[in-house]
Amino acid sequence: MSRRRPRPRPASSAASAPCPCGLPAPYADCCARFHRGLSAAPTAEALMRSRYSAFAVRDRGYLLRTWHPDTRPDELELDPATRWRRLEVVACTGGSPFHTEGTVAFRAHYTERGREGVLEEHSRFVRHAGAWVYLDASGGAV
Ligand SMILES: [Zn+2]
Repeated sequence: MSRRRPRPRPASSAASAPCPCGLPAPYADCCARFHRGLSAAPTAEALMRSRYSAFAVRDRGYLLRTWHPDTRPDELELDPATRWRRLEVVACTGGSPFHTEGTVAFRAHYTERGREGVLEEHSRFVRHAGAWVYLDASGGAV
């Protein structure tokens, strides 16, 4: 491997930039609160957005913490060549503070080594020990 690893951006500029999850708030006021454990995502959609943001900022610990223990991988490799560009939430079922299950259909746009791609997925979320966690997903068009 001769490719240089991308240098992490300084925290200050990342914190004031719009949140990667697609909501207009700056990252610090949006998904960073969940990533830092200051609060828990109140809905399945909020958790999904915060997990997308965690992929974008490469917060592996958050991704594993918000993964159901039954389906959580032991290791999580985040490909440094993948740049997550934009998230489109297409549809949600359940997943409110009053539900115990929810699904989120989304399109996640990325570039990888200069090529654009879209990940389409239906993710399932359940409440585990009071907090929303990611259970599993099925692919296919949303
Ligand atoms: Zn966010």
